[in-house]
Amino acid sequence: MNEIKSLTLSELKTALTDLGQPGFRAKQVYTWLHRGVRSFEEMTDLPKALREKLGENWTITAPIPVRRQESRLDGTVKYLWRLHDGNCVETVLMKYHHGNTVCISSEVGCPMGCAFCASTIGGLVRRLSAGEMLDEVLFTELDAGEPISNIVLMGIGEPLDNYSNVCRFLELVNSGEGMNIGMRHISLSTCGIVPRILELAESKLQLTLSVSLHAPDDETRSRIMPVNRRWPVEELLSACRCYYEKTGRRISFEYAMIRDVNDSPETARLLLKKLRGLPAHVNLIPLNNVEESPLKPSERTTVLRFQKILEEAGVACTIRRTLGSDIDASCGQLRRKYQKSSSQPSS
Ligand code: SAH
Repeated sequence: MNEIKSLTLSELKTALTDLGQPGFRAKQVYTWLHRGVRSFEEMTDLPKALREKLGENWTITAPIPVRRQESRLDGTVKYLWRLHDGNCVETVLMKYHHGNTVCISSEVGCPMGCAFCASTIGGLVRRLSAGEMLDEVLFTELDAGEPISNIVLMGIGEPLDNYSNVCRFLELVNSGEGMNIGMRHISLSTCGIVPRILELAESKLQLTLSVSLHAPDDETRSRIMPVNRRWPVEELLSACRCYYEKTGRRISFEYAMIRDVNDSPETARLLLKKLRGLPAHVNLIPLNNVEESPLKPSERTTVLRFQKILEEAGVACTIRRTLGSDIDASCGQLRRKYQKSSSQPSS
């Protein structure tokens, strides 16, 4: 059966017109869905017969929270949601001074195979629908009891591997009749699927593109990120230049600092050379330890030295603040633990 929440307002209008309903019904139903109702019965201003008919044709997705961990250090909350088919995904709520930010997953598992990432162990199970991504934002907001103002697509999965559903999700969450979250408050992170970056550039959306670079040379990058064998650094950076030219949006580069792999001063200088002429912001992420991986985080002094080299050359460079370090808040870790400790369906 079809998931009704993945429909845009205009698609819902068509669907309801096909059921012989008057024009105003679509907006009523849409509003209920985007408020997080779990059943058609809760849509109390619809005639009973219509509620029944909708139930015969459509399902409403509504994830069940199976774990909720709140950091005692900074108030970060991590949710593990169970989806209708038993699969689980993670969402993280971070409380920044500029507003509540939710980090959502776009897939169950991930096909990309990055060496340092817990989400990809076990590969891709399935892609999330647009409605399921919206649910992550919606049900986190309902649980938090405070509005969400920012979204980052940086949880489990590769958003550009689920391109059409992600674009649909963006339309839903951005819509004035829905959660109305502005594109400038949304960041999308990719490991570097070049054709999709170019496609996204054409759409001229005003979201922030984050690119997980993690190394400026093909040898290192291919070693830790298999995607680089398909689209090497130069191709990726030229797609980033194109993205900037089309959208006018500065690119954000994520760079996980891995001890003795990508953290030397020479590597910093090579990075500078590669980024020359491209308005960029580099976000250094101290590597999170993943049990299954031999890669280790760089020393704090090494991270600071790396940052200094970039800053002195005029490249904006920040070190990501670690939030929720007491609750396994980095992507994929909670789902892995849950899989290991329960008999829930897993990858
Ligand atoms: N697939 C997308 C988005 C998900 S991951 C992407 O690759 O960008 C969000 C960010 O966390 C990415 O930059 C990813 O490379 C990084 N990441 C994954 N595992 C990590 C770890 N163990 N430590 C630090 N950063 C990690």
